[in-house]
Amino acid sequence: MTLLQVNSLTTGHNGVAVVREVNLTVNSGEVVALLGANGAGKTTLLHTIAGLIPPISGAVLFNNQSITNLATHQIVRQGLSLLPENRGIFYQLTVAENLRMYKRQGGSVKVEEVFDYFPALKALVDRKAGLLSGGEQQMLSLGCRFIADPKLMLIDEMSLGLAPIIFQRMLPVLTQFASDRGVGVLLVEQHVHLALKSASRAYVLNRGELTFAGSSMELQNQRQFLESSYMGSTKQGE
Ligand code: ATP
Repeated sequence: MTLLQVNSLTTGHNGVAVVREVNLTVNSGEVVALLGANGAGKTTLLHTIAGLIPPISGAVLFNNQSITNLATHQIVRQGLSLLPENRGIFYQLTVAENLRMYKRQGGSVKVEEVFDYFPALKALVDRKAGLLSGGEQQMLSLGCRFIADPKLMLIDEMSLGLAPIIFQRMLPVLTQFASDRGVGVLLVEQHVHLALKSASRAYVLNRGELTFAGSSMELQNQRQFLESSYMGSTKQGE
């Protein structure tokens, strides 16, 4: 089932387009990677989907309903969850308090279930988030999104500040959660090869335009194209 549909979306900052005519979809239960060089427009696209930036033109559909001009709180209430680059947790609050803050009224994910996905968090329930390690903070950040019982998660550079091995351990947990609960995930990530191992499909954004849409396996086989995308120049096939 298609959860998220982005149609011919053009968006940017102060009326200047940095993302142009983007079309993409995310189905329930699948992890989709959104890749591209620094400044390609990935965060701008995520923030537009989440209602933080008004689009210049085009449409965003969530569960077949337009959310194009809705405010973020209205979009969140429908089951969209954004995990921002800065992790979006409350550093002065404990692990348990953070989870309580994110628990959604009527949501069906229990704290114990979050601990099943991240057993290490259970021993840290009374510790302030600011005192956790980077990896523990990112687990908490994901746990907070899980407990919000989302239908769709937008994740911006979950690996930021983490050792690749820690990030590598978290990806299967995310994939498992998505598959267990039919949650769609749009994953922005600089660790391209790790992201492609977890994602079933991928999009590549190059200077605001989509230059690839297809399966992760297909993209993994296009090494040269992938490398050039991170140098921020070539289009597919060039
Ligand atoms: P990165 O991987 O470095 O996070 P990105 O692909 O997420 O990059 P964006 O952060 O979306 O890229 O930035 C796309 C373009 O928009 C860049 O040229 C950036 O300088 C510009 N930009 C981002 N935020 C703003 C803003 N608030 N005001 C004006 N321009 C912005």
